Amino acid sequence: MVCLMKAVFKEKPAPGAVLKEVDAPKPGPNDVLIKIDAASICGTDMHIWNWDEWAQNRIKPPMIFGHEAAGKIVELGSNAAAAGKLALGDFISVETHVYDGTCEQCKRGNAHICENMKIFGVDMNGIFAEYAVVPQQNAWVNDAALPPAIASIQEPFGNAVHTVFEGGAPSGDSALVLGCGPIGLFAVGILKAIGASPVFAVEPTPLRARIASQMGADRVFDPRTDDYVKEILTATNGKGVGAVLEMSGNGGALQNGFKALRPGGKMNILGVFPKDVSLDVSNGIVFKYARVHGINGRRIWDTWEKTRELLSERKVDVRPVLTHEFALSDFEKGFAAIKAGEAAKVILKP
Ligand SMILES: [Zn+2]
Ligand SMILES: [Zn+2]
Repeated sequence: MVCLMKAVFKEKPAPGAVLKEVDAPKPGPNDVLIKIDAASICGTDMHIWNWDEWAQNRIKPPMIFGHEAAGKIVELGSNAAAAGKLALGDFISVETHVYDGTCEQCKRGNAHICENMKIFGVDMNGIFAEYAVVPQQNAWVNDAALPPAIASIQEPFGNAVHTVFEGGAPSGDSALVLGCGPIGLFAVGILKAIGASPVFAVEPTPLRARIASQMGADRVFDPRTDDYVKEILTATNGKGVGAVLEMSGNGGALQNGFKALRPGGKMNILGVFPKDVSLDVSNGIVFKYARVHGINGRRIWDTWEKTRELLSERKVDVRPVLTHEFALSDFEKGFAAIKAGEAAKVILKP
């Protein structure tokens, strides 16, 4: 029986968070309780930490935030136990799109864009704590041998998998990743693992650009100084790349991405744009016969199956992206390191 636990609380509608000792949560009938082994800090958590406009409109303090986690099941709700799919001791990670399973999108196999979707750690308590309650339907059972830090990053890694594979895997083809935050960095590693070549990346931050090279990017361009559309066209005999993965949310990058895309190629967009972007639709998309996909979340559980495969035997070695690890009680150091641009992915261990 779990009683008290340490948790990172968003206590007030203001920047920052506090570490508190609170009652451990109890799982409802359809939930499991997990003991957290590792948690990682996401861009979404930075929004909540900074208390920006998005957070002010979405987050309802007091709450425990954080959503990227790996941990072991220590208690099962009655229905979760009766269902028999999960067991005490199972080492799980969390699919963060909490779906209702009954709406039209869920019935169409698009549970990741459920009409009544709640986001774990955003619309309900999350995982920056010693224990967390997880809806049983959102628990993904990991291979027991997967290191906890790596198990905790599968949610953003799955975003990268979804973006790389949607519309066909660019194995043996050229690809361009726009924006190398952790998801872009994972995408570079996945592209290399499936044999895409050459893999180009665009990233202005020196640390992230360096990690993009470590993850296998053949060339990394600095958008502030490099005419990367011209360089990519030159490197591809004037044709452009077969796949562009937009992960920056930068309007200029999206415009350039369509210019660097080969006719018949695919443009998969995961980045979220703060304002409208104007595009040359005729030349950039229509005459080019470009296939454009918006990407949201992960296909449940298809993306996770691919993720399992890619992380097994270190087909994709994500360790260069996991730059920092802190104790949960030192969470402030982790947020500060990301804010200062000194860290890519930060792992917190309770
Ligand atoms: Zn995340
Ligand atoms: Zn639904």
